[in-house]
Amino acid sequence: MTAVARKQLPLRPAGPDTVDALLAWYDDERRDLPWRVAPGKRANPYRVWLSEIMLQQTTVKAVIPFYLRFLVRWPTVEKLAAAPLDDVLAAWAGLGYYSRARNLHKCAVVVATELGGKFPSTVAELQRLPGIGPYTANAIAAIAFGEAATPVDGNVERVVARLFAVRQPLPTAKTELKRLAATLTPPRRAGDFAQAMMDLGAGICTPKRPSCLVCPVQQDCAASAHGIAEQLPMRLERAERPQRVGYAFVALREDGHVLLRKRAEAGLLGGMLEVPGTHWGDLLPPVKEALRTAPVRADWWAVPGTVVHVFTHFRLEVVVYRALVPNNATLNFWAEPDRCRWVARRDMHGAAIPSVMRKIISHALSET
Ligand code: SF4
Repeated sequence: MTAVARKQLPLRPAGPDTVDALLAWYDDERRDLPWRVAPGKRANPYRVWLSEIMLQQTTVKAVIPFYLRFLVRWPTVEKLAAAPLDDVLAAWAGLGYYSRARNLHKCAVVVATELGGKFPSTVAELQRLPGIGPYTANAIAAIAFGEAATPVDGNVERVVARLFAVRQPLPTAKTELKRLAATLTPPRRAGDFAQAMMDLGAGICTPKRPSCLVCPVQQDCAASAHGIAEQLPMRLERAERPQRVGYAFVALREDGHVLLRKRAEAGLLGGMLEVPGTHWGDLLPPVKEALRTAPVRADWWAVPGTVVHVFTHFRLEVVVYRALVPNNATLNFWAEPDRCRWVARRDMHGAAIPSVMRKIISHALSET
């Protein structure tokens, strides 16, 4: 990418020339990502699907090592379908939003057993599969099958809002931004176009301080011409995230094992391992009352400080208690011993433990 400032040319409305300019830029400047193929080529649907599911709510940088590990372990949809769900959840641990891993496995089973191992090629058919919403269906259809589909996520919304200088705030502008994005989607190279928009949004048309001077479509950008790029897209003010609080009890056995419990299959962090604790509510119950729910009788002591974790819909603050217990400790019946297991600290890396629980465990163990 040359950093030389371009001469300011008269604005031309975004259209086919914009697409050509963007595709030419993509041919030279695209990001080299492990799930991508050369421009003009069709990518493997399994790999596109796997990467797109992982990329939901997660950055490219965080996804790459997970993607590569999954591909080595489960190189085909059939192999992934045949894997035990617990292994998939454990391999997913650290990527967050664990319902994606459950749906990933469910979807693999459907494709492998009901569709002969082949992903469907249209947006409508793809959307019928578990875990595939409109964005992902459009991305797979465009990138893996060359369908003239238009995946629109936050990055693409921002680029389109700026190209067309859409002042209507999000989220009400979503439908209009989708419509405008679709007007640009070319009948040929739709997959490359989709990925070019993703790259432009990630690297050039960034939320703050977009690099308009080196942007391949600056000549067609109404927001840049009017000097309002950084103000777009506008947003309605968001309500504040609700707060929840709770206690967690980290029981450490003399042999170094930590007590963990499998969560219910449905709901938040479904099927993952957790540190036993109280319900997460609006108010912290009195300590005495909370300690009566501890999973094992022991001398519990409060670890200084708290653990904070931000979920999409709420902010959680956890007070952590810790206890050293004998190897033959008996669990209280309300801890649901059937769902509990003692996990060696060295085995935690590969276990299905979500980030919030890892934070709680390391907070407790940092005091040992
Ligand atoms: Fe974004 Fe600026 Fe390019 Fe317009 S010219 S698309 S605002 S980077």
